[in-house]
Amino acid sequence: MHIVQEAPLATRTTLHLGGPARFFAEIRTESELLEALAFSDAHQLPIFVLGGGSNLLVPDEGYPGLVLHLVIDGPIKRRGDLFDVPAGTHWDAFVRYVCELGISGIECLAGIPGLVGASPIQNIGAYGEDVSQTIHTVRAYDRHTFAFTTLTRDQCGFSYRESLFNSSQRNRYIITSVTFSLDPTATPNLTYADLRRHFSAATAPPTPLDVYHAVREIRDAKGMLLPDPASGQSIPDHRSAGSFFKNPVVSPSALATIAEALAIPESDIPRYPAPDGQIKLPAAWLLDRAGFHKSYILGEAGISSRHTLALINRGHATYADITRLRDHILQTIQDRFHLVLEQEPVEPRPEPRPELTTQAGHRGRA
Ligand SMILES: Cc1cc2nc3c(=O)[nH]c(=O)nc-3n(C[C@H](O)[C@H](O)[C@H](O)COP(=O)(O)OP(=O)(O)OC[C@H]3O[C@@H](n4cnc5c(N)ncnc54)[C@H](O)[C@@H]3O)c2cc1C
Repeated sequence: MHIVQEAPLATRTTLHLGGPARFFAEIRTESELLEALAFSDAHQLPIFVLGGGSNLLVPDEGYPGLVLHLVIDGPIKRRGDLFDVPAGTHWDAFVRYVCELGISGIECLAGIPGLVGASPIQNIGAYGEDVSQTIHTVRAYDRHTFAFTTLTRDQCGFSYRESLFNSSQRNRYIITSVTFSLDPTATPNLTYADLRRHFSAATAPPTPLDVYHAVREIRDAKGMLLPDPASGQSIPDHRSAGSFFKNPVVSPSALATIAEALAIPESDIPRYPAPDGQIKLPAAWLLDRAGFHKSYILGEAGISSRHTLALINRGHATYADITRLRDHILQTIQDRFHLVLEQEPVEPRPEPRPELTTQAGHRGRA
């Protein structure tokens, strides 16, 4: 394991901005992870785990601790319906692998950037599927108990764009592999209207691989498919962190407030049912109604020309540029609809080191 100093982070994120990491290490095995944690202990450094950098907003001052680039790779191991996948596997490569086997369950999640190890963090989802439906267990290093552990799906506390990893137990677990349970008899999920339209003229039911390609095509049209870095293609619409705001889940009375603000009937507001009688609203629709349309520009930051929810780096944006646009949107939505939107991308910031709560070191119990 090799630790470097002042490593740039901007080039390792899809927003292409932010300052350097004070220390940076590529982690390729679980023992390298333990070595790096021992280094952070010895130097009292906060740590941040980096995957593919596709859901990050890095501050201009960078990260003042040790960034662990978690790229543990290796073969995907199949045990019947279970697939053990190393954390450093590219998410889309895993989806394609499964679809090529003719197996359904994650085909609608094709084209989501990032690595498998990050997939449980915000319970990635799209087009009618999310990973909580197929995750069986998560193997992780627990920074509270100094040991590797296995969490079952129920222990992960999954909900919309949430898990215990990004809420109550944030910063506690470092995921080294994920096991998925995939039913070989399941058929592809075509609940998403764009997908049904795509296959409306098809004469035979689509295979998982057909759906994989269709999802990527639909995502591409929305600027939500990143080009292969080797292609050298770089357009502003691709310099984003995907959807910048989560779809808000609101009460029926909040829906009435929005209808009143817009002087429209509640029935004109697009929505999806959410648990406990709540309602999920498309954040993109709210932005649009508040005047934040595709191609909106504020200095070096802007909104994608193909997706209202994607804030983009137009070329030379800094963290300050993106957050100026973010704050302008948040304030406008709050003033107009009395609604507080939640940011999706994570900001790497030093957090209290859980291991300081005990005298023990990283023993690396397996
Ligand atoms: C164009 C585009 C489209 C997108 N579309 C979608 C979409 O449809 N649905 C969706 O849900 N998301 C989407 N995203 C967001 C993003 O791709 C996902 O959140 C993805 O899972 C992030 O993976 P990553 O490896 O890039 O993680 P990073 O961005 O590197 O990290 C994200 C968070 O996960 C943590 N983390 C990463 N790896 C580990 C690990 N091994 N152990 C512990 N913590 C870890 C990080 O510390 C950080 O908090 C999109 C992003 C882009 C740029």
